[in-house]
Amino acid sequence: MNKQNRKQDALNYHSKGRPGKIQVVPTKPTNSQRDLTLAYSPGVAEPCRAIAENVDDVYKYTAKGNLVAVISNGTAVLGLGNIGPEASKPVMEGKGLLFKIYADIDVFDLEINAKTVDEFVTIVKALEPTFGGINLEDISAPTCFEIERRLKAEMKIPVMHDDQHGTAIISGAALMNACEIQGKKLDKIKMVVNGAGAAAVSCSKMYLSLGVKKENLVMFDINGVLDTSRTDLDDIRMEFATERKDVKTLADAMKNADVFVGLSAGNVVTPAMLVSMAKNPVVFAMANPEPEISYDLAIAARKDIIMATGRSDFPNQVNNVLGFPYIFRGALDVRATAINEEMKIAAVHAIAEMAKKPVPEAVNLAYNITNLKFGRDYIIPKPMDQRLITEVSSAVARAAMESGVARKGITDWDAYNEELLS
Ligand code: NAP
Ligand code: MG
Repeated sequence: MNKQNRKQDALNYHSKGRPGKIQVVPTKPTNSQRDLTLAYSPGVAEPCRAIAENVDDVYKYTAKGNLVAVISNGTAVLGLGNIGPEASKPVMEGKGLLFKIYADIDVFDLEINAKTVDEFVTIVKALEPTFGGINLEDISAPTCFEIERRLKAEMKIPVMHDDQHGTAIISGAALMNACEIQGKKLDKIKMVVNGAGAAAVSCSKMYLSLGVKKENLVMFDINGVLDTSRTDLDDIRMEFATERKDVKTLADAMKNADVFVGLSAGNVVTPAMLVSMAKNPVVFAMANPEPEISYDLAIAARKDIIMATGRSDFPNQVNNVLGFPYIFRGALDVRATAINEEMKIAAVHAIAEMAKKPVPEAVNLAYNITNLKFGRDYIIPKPMDQRLITEVSSAVARAAMESGVARKGITDWDAYNEELLS
């Protein structure tokens, strides 16, 4: 499809029929006068009274427990930048659509006019009665860090900024598997991270929790290497500043590195840089829509490479949709008060382990691939793999229970898995 056609197709897709991608659908009978007196006045007063007496009954009588808010202020939308809340709405509706089709979670997308941390936090906090969980989306760094930190501290429902943690979880799983295939140990690898924004910082934190050593990680922003002589770095970035004096440029850092992680901008890595990396390198070039180096150039430069991008038209797509629907599903199902580190790490392991299991034929068919199996070109599961909902959601729910943030338990896991598939 050429670019012009794709553009027109995308606009038509959104404008055809009822504009947008989502609608609200009643879940109870509404056929008779009796139904309506139950649904609204006077019948509706009964659940109101019950909830007024016991606020937890809101989960029993309303949609709260299956309702997630996807909230953005439109300050960092896709790779499009600060395009404003209205322009972010197609993305947020799209996210709602993905929550629904993959995990049957209902979403209200909320695009809010709030640029400062205080304004944003005040609005979102006030929404707690309505929602079972909050997915923060496409909010620029560094405000996104403070917004998430405060909301997590001040709210009793799960809050997750998916651009940070979704990417960290999926790429963390991909990193574990890629290193396993390449015969590398996480606590030994030399890693270069290009980019020091929301995604790069949270991914790097995740890699450290998975065993990567901080002294083996070198990070770059647009001004070059983050080292301890820099005076322009905030605390969050300073944490990743290297003490090494021998690294000034990206090319310096790539020499003998085992892993390159790109969360920066397109086409900033050259084939020569890949050639200078250690044996069996791992390259995750995740800038969208253009990766730091194209898939074709990368695999032409190194036969021994494992390469992943954010793109669906090449193997090993690092795509958040492998995570967020199921992470929230698991969290909602045990009425978790948070999405904590234990739950995120459980998701990483569940996703990584799943890729090693035999692939159902339905997945091969869905992608028109024969005999997909764990290896260089398949280090993480495919988005349309229906095992994700049982494997990831139950791992997350279990971790919530074990780490003490679940307000409801699951005892019969087989029944839970059956329910997830129904
Ligand atoms: P962000 O907060 O704007 O961060 C971008 C970072 O990249 C900044 O630190 C910026 O440096 C740095 N940068 C830009 N150009 C650079 C260059 N030429 N060399 C070195 N560093 C450079 O954005 P983000 O949300 O972290 O996302 C970053 C990229 O990753 C985007 O392309 C995004 O689409 C992609 N991404 C992909 C996935 C995925 O799943 N595939 C997920 C999340 C993000 P300064 O700080 O100095 O400006
Ligand atoms: Mg996003």
